[in-house]
Amino acid sequence: MDPLSRAHALATTAYLVAAVLFILSLRGLSSPETARRGNLYGIIGMAIAILATLTLTGPQPNPLLIGSIAAGAAIGTVMATRVGMTQMPELVALLHSFVGVAAVMVGYSLQLADPGDERMFEALTTKTLVEVFVDVWIGAVTFTGSVLAFLKLRGSVSGRPTLLPARHFLNLAMVVGSIVFAVLYVRDGQTWTLAAGTAIACVLGVHLVAAIGGADMPVVVSMLNSYSGWTAAAAGFMLANDLLIVTGALVGSSGAILSYIMCRAMNRSIWNVIFGGFGAEPPKSSGGPAQPQGDVQDIDHQTLATKLLESKSVIIVPGYGMAVARAQHAVRELTEILRVKGVTVRFAIHPVAGRLPGHMNVLLAEANVPYDIVLEMDEINSDFPTTDVSIVIGANDIVNPGAEDDASSPIYGMPVLQVWKSKLVVVNKRSRATGYAGVDNPLFYKPVTRMLFGDAKDAVEKVVTALRAG
Ligand code: NDP
Repeated sequence: MDPLSRAHALATTAYLVAAVLFILSLRGLSSPETARRGNLYGIIGMAIAILATLTLTGPQPNPLLIGSIAAGAAIGTVMATRVGMTQMPELVALLHSFVGVAAVMVGYSLQLADPGDERMFEALTTKTLVEVFVDVWIGAVTFTGSVLAFLKLRGSVSGRPTLLPARHFLNLAMVVGSIVFAVLYVRDGQTWTLAAGTAIACVLGVHLVAAIGGADMPVVVSMLNSYSGWTAAAAGFMLANDLLIVTGALVGSSGAILSYIMCRAMNRSIWNVIFGGFGAEPPKSSGGPAQPQGDVQDIDHQTLATKLLESKSVIIVPGYGMAVARAQHAVRELTEILRVKGVTVRFAIHPVAGRLPGHMNVLLAEANVPYDIVLEMDEINSDFPTTDVSIVIGANDIVNPGAEDDASSPIYGMPVLQVWKSKLVVVNKRSRATGYAGVDNPLFYKPVTRMLFGDAKDAVEKVVTALRAG
């Protein structure tokens, strides 16, 4: 066997091992107990994949490739160490955009390869032309869509949905236009037809993501995750790289499944998300976030501590504010003290709490809160009427009763945690400001609700001190 065939055979075997490790990684990531192991499988799989791919580039390492990998690894390490947990969704959206732009560049490098360059040039057959167009098109939609999602999550542009009156017609026109340029490109292989298809895809990406916003953003992020997977799979076909096809399909399908699960949890139609706000109504009100409407009643740390000690059953509802304040360790301490005193304490996790799927589970696991007292919304929502005290820590949209009874609310129809059914609800946040969806929360004005204003970490620590003293 000549050295090149041997390298290919070795790489194919290594790719198979890497693909199995990626599947084990996804399996591990499905539960907090096994998530660390899942991550480790993913890291080993990716290291094997990179090494195997390097062996295919020739007997001598390509300095440009090694330099790019080193630069990418250095930037990735700095980003991963610096990024806060609350900035994670923005980072994920940005990384999806990289997948998109990489796919576009690979497509164009094949299209524009110099016929004299033996390594790059490949006579483009009809099959390759289809692959190039599909890869570049999905890559461009993913790229611009992800950049807009990044800007929305970062707060650089408004998170509200932009619903143009003729948006469905526009989407349809862009899809038809893309098909026309795809046919022309596959027939003649001319660069301008590919460029026209790319330009339409870039606009479509922006338009699809612009039409969705507010509380529906989590679904957009997981949908773009899925698109980035399909982009990678299309690039795999174009480059005849089996591992890229398998990995892309894994990311694409797991992202699609996650989007479906989140849509079901939020009572939204998946088609609405895919077709950019299909069936959605324009927002009833425009302008800035809603103003608070009504009076609230306060509670102090000492009174809350007394109420907690008198209760039998407590449910804690964590939200984005707990992540911002990094209050999870103080919350674990509070839980421990109450459990020692014989109070039943459980956590209620809403599927879109925080800013990324599983955000609260990760934080609570980091603080060593036992997994068996952390329950999903469906498991615990019916228990609020028999709960003495519910403590909402830095959550807002996910406990907004308007989602159930105010048809004009942008979050109407989204299932929420029914904390107001418990005997006492204490809401901790810094002010009466709105949450991510920008809507006022009638929970604050209910007779059963008391507000504990202040930073979550500081407030919970004060309650812990009061409990210890009591
Ligand atoms: P929200 O964004 O609705 O509310 C968070 C609340 O935390 C704010 O109202 C804020 O009020 C309070 N807060 C902020 N900082 C602190 C602090 N240091 N201490 C105490 N409170 C603080 O969060 P939820 O978790 O309730 O809901 C998540 C929202 O984010 C949903 O609308 C969801 O759709 C959206 N989203 C979710 C994603 C996901 O994947 N999970 C991704 C993208 C969006 P104040 O300023 O008064 O303190």
